Amino acid sequence: MKRVFSLMLLFLPVFAIAAPWGVPTDYTHTWDPSSPSSRPGEKYLLPRILDGQTVRIYLDFPNGNEKQRAAAQKSIADSYARWFAEPAKIIRQTGREAEFADILKILDRGIRVQFVGVDQPRDLDFCIASRSQLAGTGAAGWYERNDEDGGAPRIVRLMDTAGNRIMGMDAEIVQLHEIGHSLGLSDQYDFWRDEGTHAVYHSKPQADGIMKQYPVISCDEADGIVNLIDLTRRVRRGGERGWRSLCKGSDQYYINAMPAGRGPYAISFSSELDWMLETFRDGKKVQEQKLTLDLKNGLSPFDEGPERVLERDAAGRPVRAQGSQGEDIFYSYTYDKRMRLVLRDGRLVQSEETKPVRAGNGQVMQRTVFFGEDGEFSVVIMSRAKWQQPKGWAAYETQFGEEMASVSLQIHFNAKGQVSKHSIYVADEVRAASSGSKKEQALEQALSQSMQQQKWQRKLEELSEWYLKQH
Ligand SMILES: [Zn+2]
Repeated sequence: MKRVFSLMLLFLPVFAIAAPWGVPTDYTHTWDPSSPSSRPGEKYLLPRILDGQTVRIYLDFPNGNEKQRAAAQKSIADSYARWFAEPAKIIRQTGREAEFADILKILDRGIRVQFVGVDQPRDLDFCIASRSQLAGTGAAGWYERNDEDGGAPRIVRLMDTAGNRIMGMDAEIVQLHEIGHSLGLSDQYDFWRDEGTHAVYHSKPQADGIMKQYPVISCDEADGIVNLIDLTRRVRRGGERGWRSLCKGSDQYYINAMPAGRGPYAISFSSELDWMLETFRDGKKVQEQKLTLDLKNGLSPFDEGPERVLERDAAGRPVRAQGSQGEDIFYSYTYDKRMRLVLRDGRLVQSEETKPVRAGNGQVMQRTVFFGEDGEFSVVIMSRAKWQQPKGWAAYETQFGEEMASVSLQIHFNAKGQVSKHSIYVADEVRAASSGSKKEQALEQALSQSMQQQKWQRKLEELSEWYLKQH
């Protein structure tokens, strides 16, 4: 099976807000999806560390002198050590040594690193670059991986200046953060964590931590390290009930590295047409369905009736429901992001992603629904600051005809739910490619036909109705 090229870039931006822990979306993926013997974390360093092997690092520090290189090596080794030492400290502080005896043995052994020469095999490239080398990136550091060649991941961070600072941040925090990625922890910034975090393996928002640029390895991140190790070793801790979070006063339990009450579904997509529905029971994946959006038998959100919730998660959110025409509906949640799939007779007839997105200085909730209509790929989007308030906008886009023409309808609503603006925009590739051709004339003629006009007008009304009934 051909590998899909993906360059993973996890930046460390200069803003921060609340943070738990999470595992990257691809932690349970393998280099070769057809290989059944592969284990979690194949693209990360943790399996190697758990096997008792040394992490081989090539340090690329072109501007560093001998003394600076030695200091950088020690600092990198210390950062790796901290990711195991601090969770061990938290376990001891909570007096739960007996419960985590196996984990403590691993954590106390630490993470051994070894610096290798440029020609030697390595598990990680670590590059310390000067500001001029990284001109324009705007990031203090990042973690990247090129899945195409299966080569070593790379951490790049800016060379620190006086007082060990990088762009006003503590150099050690930047380094710990990027090293956290190399072990298998995802970013926890608002807006970003939804995208990069596995739909099942993550905690609820509780405290700030390194993966959100906060200067301590938090109790949530200690939970994360324990879960990451258990997930990678396939250890089930705490029997049927699981184990309680290391955070003081928390009633969060974990079963098989998965927060109790989470799931059981994880929905993801590789393109708007190709979706994946995974089913987990007690943290173990029991089913995996690859689904392609059926454009011929699509379900328009305009034609959807009320659904009946069959199953809810611990937070009371629906995870399974039945549609008004007997459809099977599945939900999954990653922090504030919600995914929804609608299946009819095992075929995917509609898919949806609802998530917070940045808009100006604030945040809006955006719902995007994908479906087929008359065999064409269609999308409906709505955006609101709060679901309770009607102010916002909705859009409908589809393709039509043989000429790959597309139409885009947009409606804006004011705070009273009244339409403040609407537009119908028709674009076609023919018009762009061959202006004034016979083909174009024919198409324009078709568009001007009152039937077509009426159709879009009707769609606009349907879109408006659909928008206003959302809450
Ligand atoms: Zn990051």
